[in-house]
Amino acid sequence: MAPSRTTEIYPPELTAAESDQLLSSIKDWTIANGLAVRPLPSLVSAEADPHGILATTAPVTLFPSPFPRICFEQAKSIQRAYNQLYASIAQDEEFLQGIVEEILEVDDFIAELWRVHLNVKEEGYVQNLSLGLFRSDYMVHQATQDSTPAIKQVEFNTIASSFGGLSSKTSKLHKHLSVVDYTVLESPISSAELDLPRNESIGSLASGIRDAFTTYKQGETIHDCCVIFLVQDPERNIFDQRHLEYDLQQHESPVPVFRLAFSEVLSKTTIADTPRRQLLYQPPSSPTKLFEVAVVYFRAGYGPQDYPSPDAWKARLQIERSNAIKCPSILTQLAGAKKVQQVLATPISHSAPSILTRFFKDSPAEIENLSKTFTNIYPLDDSPAGQEARKIALDPERCKSYVLKPQREGGGNNTYRSAIPPFLRSLPESHWKSFILMELITPPPVRNLILRNGVIEKGGVICELGIYGTCLWDQKSKEVLYNEEAGYLLRTKGDTSEEGGVAAGFGSMDSCRLV
Ligand code: ADP
Ligand code: MG
Ligand code: MG
Repeated sequence: MAPSRTTEIYPPELTAAESDQLLSSIKDWTIANGLAVRPLPSLVSAEADPHGILATTAPVTLFPSPFPRICFEQAKSIQRAYNQLYASIAQDEEFLQGIVEEILEVDDFIAELWRVHLNVKEEGYVQNLSLGLFRSDYMVHQATQDSTPAIKQVEFNTIASSFGGLSSKTSKLHKHLSVVDYTVLESPISSAELDLPRNESIGSLASGIRDAFTTYKQGETIHDCCVIFLVQDPERNIFDQRHLEYDLQQHESPVPVFRLAFSEVLSKTTIADTPRRQLLYQPPSSPTKLFEVAVVYFRAGYGPQDYPSPDAWKARLQIERSNAIKCPSILTQLAGAKKVQQVLATPISHSAPSILTRFFKDSPAEIENLSKTFTNIYPLDDSPAGQEARKIALDPERCKSYVLKPQREGGGNNTYRSAIPPFLRSLPESHWKSFILMELITPPPVRNLILRNGVIEKGGVICELGIYGTCLWDQKSKEVLYNEEAGYLLRTKGDTSEEGGVAAGFGSMDSCRLV
């Protein structure tokens, strides 16, 4: 008797004709619906695309990956508490200062961010509202084959949390394929067999920006208001951003959105000479029309590569000291440092009272739910936990279950397993404290097929679930004006790759088939 596919052979083995049919459906649907990226320059020569007009299918799985329903629900249900936690951390300058001061002298990027904050603080912040478009990332952890799976947090992103635009589309792609393509395979999958959760990340993330925009406009304004998407240039993942922009502009009360390269902030924006310090933007196509920037949404500026000169830091200062609502502010960006995640998680493994009591005084249930998602993370400083971590990191056997992370974002920055001891030894010991050492999460094996650059890769995969959250709060009064869970991202990579970033070329877009 053939084994039941739902438990054993999912996704099904495909014949060559079936692969071709799926590929044909996917490559057309993705372009027709904007599940796309600009092509890698190394794959398309300047001669073939002299004007940079080509787009291509984003890396994507052929089938939605099975994902434990209990874990999906757990991750979604905890998002509003995570939003609240990170809003509270961003409001807690003393807490952040303690963390930043530990790594200032060995991490110039963090030091420079902190300096911008101190400069604005000295002058006095004019905008108290702060917007977070967050994403909390998890992998499934299952201690033994028979135990209940649970989620463990990989990291929490507070700046440029990407793929919310493409992830809604990926859910829709898999839903579309389930209507006909999956049902006509030799081992057909009926759409009733697939529990595909809705994913409205585009609308939900845009709602967060729209809410900040509307709140800003309720105050006194001197020009028509707009939102700025602050971006890298060139940007291959542009359609991901465009989907949010289109949602904002196509709404019944449209929000004007302009894209601005981070390198052009100083030439295209000014600060009004008023006590309110409005940020003014002049669109290049209109020499006379000025807009007042209500919200600056950062899709750039999260790493040193965007700050090649002192002018880039001047640009960051210009935005931070302005009246625009920042998504994120410097303090919110710093709240997302991996060192913060480590400080939150470390006491769990050392039986001290959780630092979470600082942020959730009267909510032991909240603290328990959040703590359950932590895995072991160590500092590499002089503390007892740090001393223990140094032993692990330099041990050729024990290091194999760990990843070493610097205070950086965007993928490609970590050191894994056996590469950790030689890497650490290549650095002065005084620099080690700017890293954290994290236990690797090893999710149960899953199989899938990934379409990348027109070629299908097949085999074991590792899935990472991200839950988006939007939060608007007042830094001074600590009032939270808006706090919502905002859809999900499933990213999947081959199980031989350590990194999972789609933009960095390792991962692919996916959606959940709840099991
Ligand atoms: P970044 O901010 O650069 O995205 P991450 O902490 O998300 O940094 O690490 C990048 C990738 O490394 C993740 O997407 C994941 O694939 C892998 N990774 C990071 N931490 C862990 C971990 N504790 N267990 C397993 N994989 C991890
Ligand atoms: Mg990150
Ligand atoms: Mg990440």
